[in-house]
Amino acid sequence: MEKVIRCRDVGFDCEGVIKAKTEKEALELVAEHAKNEHGLKEVTPEVVEKIKSVMTEE
Ligand SMILES: [Zn+2]
Repeated sequence: MEKVIRCRDVGFDCEGVIKAKTEKEALELVAEHAKNEHGLKEVTPEVVEKIKSVMTEE
């Protein structure tokens, strides 16, 4: 099983799909992606909660 996050579900207009082995890694990868690709300034607790809420396992 992998953690899968669709960037669109986090709230960005983006087809990006982030996959990782662990929740921690997934959060880091999404945060990095959001900063680099979407100009996210800061990963707030709200953003983390949002990411967790749309995280699925495949
Ligand atoms: Zn994206």
